[in-house]
Amino acid sequence: MGLEEAMPVDGYMTTQVSRVINWARRSSVWPMPFATACCGIELMATASSRYDLARFGAEVFRFSPRQADLMIVAGRISTKMMPVLQRIYLQMTEPKWVISMGACASTGGLFDTYAVVQGVDQFMPVDIYVPGCPPRPETLIEGVMAIQQIIDQDNIPYDADGKRKPLGISLTEGNSKNVNVTINGS
Ligand code: SF4
Repeated sequence: MGLEEAMPVDGYMTTQVSRVINWARRSSVWPMPFATACCGIELMATASSRYDLARFGAEVFRFSPRQADLMIVAGRISTKMMPVLQRIYLQMTEPKWVISMGACASTGGLFDTYAVVQGVDQFMPVDIYVPGCPPRPETLIEGVMAIQQIIDQDNIPYDADGKRKPLGISLTEGNSKNVNVTINGS
């Protein structure tokens, strides 16, 4: 954000500022929903009062990519739709993250046809795969919590060319409370 550069050279102060920035970032994740099918209904349920995604500061769904930093792909993506999804992803603000929600987004699901993308990770970086058909809202919430852990660790990997590397972390349904999002410098 440039604040670190504006601070005097002091490792302690820089670390503290960085922790505050990450705390603010993790507490105000703004999702960009790209819901195309039944998983979208579970996504909507996650934001509703029963599951209350607002508890995690992530209920402000934005439909403008420039106001969002978490892409949630929920549902199958056709080859015709993929360029649109890619363009929206590119227009989102950095740093940004991607959740692939459900079997269809992650693998094409049961739609093993030429018209359906067999996993969005072939075309864009995916950080968290949320399993299920559809995933329950609790599982999606665990995906959002895993993203928050990544932000807390301030450990976003880039390759030698400065391009974002996907984290590719798969949650295990039902026991993802223990998900290890340590990136080990990869
Ligand atoms: S994973 Fe299942 S619930 Fe989700 S979009 Fe595909 S068929 Fe629908």
